Amino acid sequence: CGITGYIGNQDSKEILLKGLEKLEYRGYDSAGIALSNDSGVHIFKEKGRIADLRSAVDGELFAQAGIGHTRWATHGVPSRSNAHPHQSTSARFTLVHNGVIENYTLLQQKYLQDVSFQSDTDSEVIVQLVEKFVGEGIDAEEAIRKTLALLEGSYAIAIIDTENTDTIFVAKNKSPLLVGVGDGFNVVASDAMAMIQVTDTYIELMDQEMVVLQKDEVTIKNLAGEVVNRDSYKAEIDA
Ligand code: GLU
Repeated sequence: CGITGYIGNQDSKEILLKGLEKLEYRGYDSAGIALSNDSGVHIFKEKGRIADLRSAVDGELFAQAGIGHTRWATHGVPSRSNAHPHQSTSARFTLVHNGVIENYTLLQQKYLQDVSFQSDTDSEVIVQLVEKFVGEGIDAEEAIRKTLALLEGSYAIAIIDTENTDTIFVAKNKSPLLVGVGDGFNVVASDAMAMIQVTDTYIELMDQEMVVLQKDEVTIKNLAGEVVNRDSYKAEIDA
């Protein structure tokens, strides 16, 4: 299973799909991408091979931001509706997640009694919590931090917000995820292999950190919202 994300000046879909293909070796049962542009967020997902996803994606669609996912099901059978990305009820927030949220049933019962879930995954609780907390009057970044603080288990996540289209929110805990730095774009992936065609410069992420990823800026923060400074490094991998 794996994650890819791109925000920048180029079209994201081919970069996301190529990246997912590089992550195939990790194993998966379904794959999906969300592409964000002026007309909104467009989701494509399929059970089965990335080749099937590739043929389902609208080749005409140009999107300067997007997130991609290969799923290895842990909660909910492999199916199109359980494949990621998952959206909050209003469709404002779109999420991809690798890992396991161990306390998702508890979180559902405590905070999300009124929400009707669209999947059987543990992951959906994350995106529904973000929407709930935003509805209580805090901004998206703070709502994501508040959500992360409640999660028990492992996660690598990327979130798109239709009201912050210049940003991808990223976070990790006990699942691999790193940032790739480009000129006029930035990316995120489970593994540098996935993005080595577009950049050789990476920034490591630590557990319980989140990233505000924009095309010209990478801001790492801890769950208290404090900025963390970290240098990038050059990856030595043959593309
Ligand atoms: N636990 C999540 C699910 O079953 C994510 C699985 C994964 O890491 O791909 O959908």
